[in-house]
Amino acid sequence: PVVTRFAPSPTGYLHIGGARTALFNWLYARGRGGRFLLRIEDTDRARSTPEATAAILKGLTWLGLDWDGEPISQFTRADRHAEVAREMLARGAAYKCFSSQEEIEAFRAAAKAEGRSTLFQSPWRDADPATHPDAPFVIRLKAPRDGETVIDDQVQGRVTIRNDQLDDMVCLRSDGTPTYMLAVVVDDHDMGVTHVVRGDDHLTNAARQTQVYRAMGWPVPVWAHIPLIHGPDGKKLSKRHGALGVEEYQAMGYPAAGMRNYLARLGWSHGDDEFFTDAQAREWFDLSGIGRAPARLDFKKLENLCGQHIAAADDAALLQELVAYLQAAGRPALTPRQMKGLERAMYSLKERAKTFEELIEKAHFVLTDRPVRPDEKSAKALDAVSRSILGELTPQVQSATWSRDGLEAAVAKVAEAHGLGLGKLAGPLRAALAGRTVTPSVFDMMLVIGRDETVARLGDAAG
Ligand code: GLU
Repeated sequence: PVVTRFAPSPTGYLHIGGARTALFNWLYARGRGGRFLLRIEDTDRARSTPEATAAILKGLTWLGLDWDGEPISQFTRADRHAEVAREMLARGAAYKCFSSQEEIEAFRAAAKAEGRSTLFQSPWRDADPATHPDAPFVIRLKAPRDGETVIDDQVQGRVTIRNDQLDDMVCLRSDGTPTYMLAVVVDDHDMGVTHVVRGDDHLTNAARQTQVYRAMGWPVPVWAHIPLIHGPDGKKLSKRHGALGVEEYQAMGYPAAGMRNYLARLGWSHGDDEFFTDAQAREWFDLSGIGRAPARLDFKKLENLCGQHIAAADDAALLQELVAYLQAAGRPALTPRQMKGLERAMYSLKERAKTFEELIEKAHFVLTDRPVRPDEKSAKALDAVSRSILGELTPQVQSATWSRDGLEAAVAKVAEAHGLGLGKLAGPLRAALAGRTVTPSVFDMMLVIGRDETVARLGDAAG
């Protein structure tokens, strides 16, 4: 069975690059009935914070990327990592190295002067244990000196690294703490990880890690090193390109489904498909669809996909998500009256809204109370002439057949009497009903708020 994992270092918020890595791993596992695990790489005690871990879990939760079991803290597994280092020692795959920092530097200086490789070659590699001093030591991997280490990467292809370019890396420090390189391999092995999907900044680590797997006689996982994300200008992603933290996208009101779709398309493709559901993504996602070139952020595409996901969403589910959005932002809870109005209006609100903010803006006509206070722009539509026309319209709406056709006929009748097109009345009607210039169609608004409220609002505006 497939087991993937996401292994963030808890040093900040959940970066969109990390979110995409998590999504790829999640899709790969979920599409194959596999498991998706979470490991917090918190061995760097100075930089790791519980707040960062919380932010990462929160970001994943918002994105709907659920993980199996409890998140694993790498730091708490230090004893196990040390145990494996000692096991490598017992197997003759590693050795104790007593070289001091000064000796290592002297070795390098001499090598440099003689034009040789400056990779440290420990004199203890083949020393007889009987000659070991009673002194602090590190445990080094007895890495192969000849040949090459091959990484059969699912994205990068076959990557070969000459073994004489890799030194005998330290697995256990002299204070008994494991190095990162050892910890990753031990954890991935113990967690049963079968596929490692991560940023290609870890590609050379994969060679060293392969050597550790070999030293322990453990099966090497399938590797897939994905290119990093670039900004719209093709340059390395940075703050000046805009929002980098997933929580910023949440705060701007992008729906999680749209964000998932967008992140999936960031570096992965399935034919010409742009919009897809979660079920389709799970079914289609494969490592072979990951591109080799860095994907570029494209905010237009994000908005477009988010709009499509909002429009396609189930009304009730969308309302739930909107409630969660307001709550996460610490905004006032919706009243029962507002909830009812939103329920009735959602079919219309969700058309052409790209974010929850736009949805809320369009929903102003159901959220607001009488008297409707027009904003500055829509107030301009309520001049004396328009107000008197609204006054004429009020009794017509009062007696109209309560349907889209009936209402349209009522408005058309008054418009014609003034030699105006229907469209000319849209501005004043929007102002009267919603106090806004951007709203759902005036007939949708009337149908949602009902006859009494419509008549009352028209009457208020007519003055
Ligand atoms: N903790 C590493 C990072 O955040 C990931 C290591 C891995 O996926 O193997 O870049």
